[in-house]
Amino acid sequence: MSVRVRFAPSPTGPLHIGGVRTALYNYLFARKHGGKMLLRIEDTDQNRYVPGAEEYILEALKWVGIEIDEGQGVGGPHAPYRQSERKEMYRQYAEQLINSGKAYYAFDTAEEIEAMRKRLEEAGADAAQYNAITRLQMTNSLTLSAEEVASRIANGDPYVVRIKIDPKQDIRFKDIIREWVVVHASTLDDKVLLKSDGMPTYHLANIVDDYLMGITHVIRGEEWLPSAPLHVLLYQYFGWTAPQFAHLPLLLKPEGNGKLSKRDADLGGFPIFPLQWTDPSTGTVARGFREDGYLKDAVVNFLAFLGWNPGTEQEMFTMEELIGAFSLERIHKAGARFDITKAKWFNQQYIKQLSDDELAKSLQLGENSKPLDLLKIVHLMKDRVTFPQEILSEASFLVEMPTEYEEAVVASKWNADAIKAIAAYVEDLKVYEGDFLAESAKAIWAAAAERVGVKMGKVMQALRLAATGAGHGPDLMLAMEILGKDEVIARLEKALAILPQK
Ligand code: GLU
Repeated sequence: MSVRVRFAPSPTGPLHIGGVRTALYNYLFARKHGGKMLLRIEDTDQNRYVPGAEEYILEALKWVGIEIDEGQGVGGPHAPYRQSERKEMYRQYAEQLINSGKAYYAFDTAEEIEAMRKRLEEAGADAAQYNAITRLQMTNSLTLSAEEVASRIANGDPYVVRIKIDPKQDIRFKDIIREWVVVHASTLDDKVLLKSDGMPTYHLANIVDDYLMGITHVIRGEEWLPSAPLHVLLYQYFGWTAPQFAHLPLLLKPEGNGKLSKRDADLGGFPIFPLQWTDPSTGTVARGFREDGYLKDAVVNFLAFLGWNPGTEQEMFTMEELIGAFSLERIHKAGARFDITKAKWFNQQYIKQLSDDELAKSLQLGENSKPLDLLKIVHLMKDRVTFPQEILSEASFLVEMPTEYEEAVVASKWNADAIKAIAAYVEDLKVYEGDFLAESAKAIWAAAAERVGVKMGKVMQALRLAATGAGHGPDLMLAMEILGKDEVIARLEKALAILPQK
């Protein structure tokens, strides 16, 4: 049997980064087993539909490199893949269950259900549910005569279809990650399968589609674990073989306790959406990994490790390597800490792997900035940044002549020897006529210091201070090459004039 998995998001807003992890695990599993990856849009809850959310899902998957074999945006033998367009298909399945006594029509109004809840709560019931006991006091095809039911339906009275749960049984299934899950059916309620507007609920549509689309493995977030017993029961009621289930661990706060929330992201100053998202009704903008400067390979690598590990020391994985190493058995059930510092670490590693050329292409010098050699700046800064855009912000000292000098360094390193050596350096630079490269900048500096009897190493930081204003930074000789000889001379002369004479 060949593997068929699906990612089945609901377009209720921007796809959460946890959703991207779910999609990624499905994708890795499908590719590993030479199977198919489907994308189904679960939009049966029209009240929660958000315009633009579906496009966002497609774009996010594309950005991280998850390829869909079949489904929304791609097509395939089971089209349409958007559940709202499959609406008419679900009714027959609801009727099939009614005919076999596993579901029933319910005509209760919202007020009647509310009254039932109140009654039960007042009587001290733990959970006020529509279930095996309460359904006998309600208006449904189990309590009404067949004629009454037929006439109500013919009359156009609104109704829903509910599953009829037999409470006297254990529902058990083996989750690939969690092993045996056993739930007593008396804890479940008679969930609505078909709503009064004719739309199926998530539960019915999800099961019917997984069945029709030949899904072999359902890999999804832990938040769906409570629904799984109902789904297993539905498969039994239909007489279908259930797919295998794998419920992925929750994503936890960076500190490790509690579920990761949007608030954690806001407080921690990091995104929890793959792409930037502008809320269509409020205009509020939520940051995205992509716009924040995360490389897609870093995001994939980071997400892959949120709940899974290869069992080896290797941390850096390309998508191909992940496909090779991935297995559902190596997913742990304990929640996965959303350690954003790890995401940043991956980003640094992937930035280092990019060629200077590739990185330079993603950057742009400001319109008014001096013409500087972007490639050289990239080379200078690449190993020092977490995000590509920092290459230019951290290199702003190349664009602006220093106006301030780091005080502690002035106090500790700006001394008579430094002044002497730097003055000699300026003299020598003025008469130098060759190419001003990092090597020549260094050789002239060494010779000038020696000429005035100063050990170069002792005054190096003072030179950096004079040239950049700071005591620390990237390779100074390369920085001076980028600045150019004239600019270096101008900067050193300025420092000699401004900083204390000793
Ligand atoms: N539509 C559900 C969601 O939004 C899918 C859950 C499932 O995979 O069964 O996540």
